[in-house]
Amino acid sequence: MKSIQLNQKPDTIDLLKFLRPDEFPQQELFNEAGRVRKKYVGNKVYFRGLIEFSNVCSKDCYYCGIRKSNKNIARYNLSDEEILVAAVYACEQRYASIVLQSGELMNKMFIKRIDNLLKKIHRKTNGTLHITLSLGEQSKKTYRQWFESGAHRYLLRIETANRKLYSQIHPTDALHDFKVRMRALESLRELGYQTGTGVMIGLPFQTYDDLANDLLFMKDFGIDMVGMGPYIEHNDTPMYKYRSLLWTEQERLFATLRMIALLRIFMPDINIAATTALQSLDKMGREKALMAGANVIMPNITPGKYRDNYRLYNTKPCTDERADDSTECLSARIRMTGNSIGYGEWGDSKYYTRRRIKKT
Ligand code: SAM
Ligand code: SF4
Repeated sequence: MKSIQLNQKPDTIDLLKFLRPDEFPQQELFNEAGRVRKKYVGNKVYFRGLIEFSNVCSKDCYYCGIRKSNKNIARYNLSDEEILVAAVYACEQRYASIVLQSGELMNKMFIKRIDNLLKKIHRKTNGTLHITLSLGEQSKKTYRQWFESGAHRYLLRIETANRKLYSQIHPTDALHDFKVRMRALESLRELGYQTGTGVMIGLPFQTYDDLANDLLFMKDFGIDMVGMGPYIEHNDTPMYKYRSLLWTEQERLFATLRMIALLRIFMPDINIAATTALQSLDKMGREKALMAGANVIMPNITPGKYRDNYRLYNTKPCTDERADDSTECLSARIRMTGNSIGYGEWGDSKYYTRRRIKKT
């Protein structure tokens, strides 16, 4: 059995030994990540009810199916009432946390709406829910306003820590600027959010060196939580033309699992999500991620009639992550992985708690 020894301060080369396919027996890596997870964060999986409340977006990321320029989807925007019904459902299912996600808008009406919504959700659920926002780049003032109105966590993927690659997968303009995204992430942390980021894995032009550097970026930044998943092509996006350059789906799936496992070993007490994109590549993708070190799962609780229009990438009907996210089905699947479920628990990032205590 090969042993997993990471230097105290590993560099790209150290990480590549575990990240590249066929360099190290990956089952060993997954087993070690499982052991580290058990030791540092335990065997509980925490639910975050995901509400994809609108697919209206002002940005044009080259990879994303709900980008502004895609005219082949019907745009939707849930009413506050529909969002509240979903939040109450999360409470009834004892999820204890929800994620509000949408396309990116920065106008005053949107900012005010989220502010009111946060207050309404807390009133309706007696402050029992922890709320994560995933609404893209906003000004520090807006992030502060939402934090004061009751948002606890924020997810803003850096997508890739390689600036050049970032500029290849986004339009070249002020709206899609790597520096702005970086600053936004820093603002979130400064304001006291549990700050989450992540990357896409298997992008055209991306290398294993890039992925190793993504892990180093997360460690250097001191991120509290991570949601990373495979890049999956969407036929109505500019990046679709590069599909012949992509790694196979199996390669993207296993590269993602190795990234999760390495990150768990590297940052033992953060929260790591088993993302839905994994399930689009493999019916058991999320369960495999739990066995490779992830400890958070995000059941989709968006009302069914809207889900088809929040299509970020092409999904195959047989592996559609939206198929059965009922609590019973999910909990049976999670128990199969040898984990239990933190029903009614917020499941905050232990790393975040430790970092906040240190600060005071
Ligand atoms: N608009 C917000 C933002 O961009 O931060 C939040 C919603 S956005 C749809 C959430 C994430 O979806 C992005 O950060 C990106 O990583 C992921 N995503 C978009 N298109 C994807 C694709 N084709 N394959 C995999 N993930 C994708
Ligand atoms: Fe909009 Fe987010 Fe998609 Fe970019 S990734 S187009 S910001 S929804």
